[in-house]
Amino acid sequence: MARIVILLGAPGAGKGTQAARLSRARGLPHVSTGDLLRDHKARGTELGLKAKALMDRGDLVPDDLVLDMLAERVARPDCKGGYLLDGFPRTVVQAEAFGRMVGADDDLVVVNLEVSEASIVERAAGRLSCRSCGKVYNAKSAPSRVAGKCDKCGGELFQREDDSPAVVRERLRVYHEKTAPLVDFYRRQGNLQSIDGEASPDTVFGRLDELVPEKV
Ligand code: AMP
Repeated sequence: MARIVILLGAPGAGKGTQAARLSRARGLPHVSTGDLLRDHKARGTELGLKAKALMDRGDLVPDDLVLDMLAERVARPDCKGGYLLDGFPRTVVQAEAFGRMVGADDDLVVVNLEVSEASIVERAAGRLSCRSCGKVYNAKSAPSRVAGKCDKCGGELFQREDDSPAVVRERLRVYHEKTAPLVDFYRRQGNLQSIDGEASPDTVFGRLDELVPEKV
């Protein structure tokens, strides 16, 4: 019986930050389809080349490509006991296909991080990432931002191409059209939980920690 946690929320709602923290706390792998795709882009694989233009303008990568990539990742041995999904599913087609991949006795928890549109635009505009290790800094992580270097590995900090204001607006439009319907999809299945994502990261994590108990 595997424990699978799905984190839903608009781009910049804090899914990545919270998933990384919960992954450490529960010892479950953090599976981010955005990170997997960025890795393909950086390595220049066939998938990376197909995904690049779509990602750079804030569109979604086609469902079949994402589903193949995800299936391959969660079939690895480290995911046997469960995993945390960040950025997947993003469409009803993905959610339905994923539903067929989940075993009947798996424990699925879906958590929606609710954040206002204004906060999302503000957060994305202030977000920087480390080019080497991928650590994400928000607008308030001041020391690292001032130094311009990652305090974890010393790598260079940069703004993701898809965090520019025009692309953030497009990502939000795509979110409302294709991903927001998943909130109702999982509510109807009866396993949706919601957290006020406007609260401080510690408060959000405290709530997430309660919703995903230690033992299955
Ligand atoms: P993220 O880091 O989750 O914000 O993802 C960055 C970009 O990768 C998105 O804007 C999409 O272009 C692409 N992407 C990530 N996950 C998915 C997914 N599940 N389905 C389609 N595209 C995705």
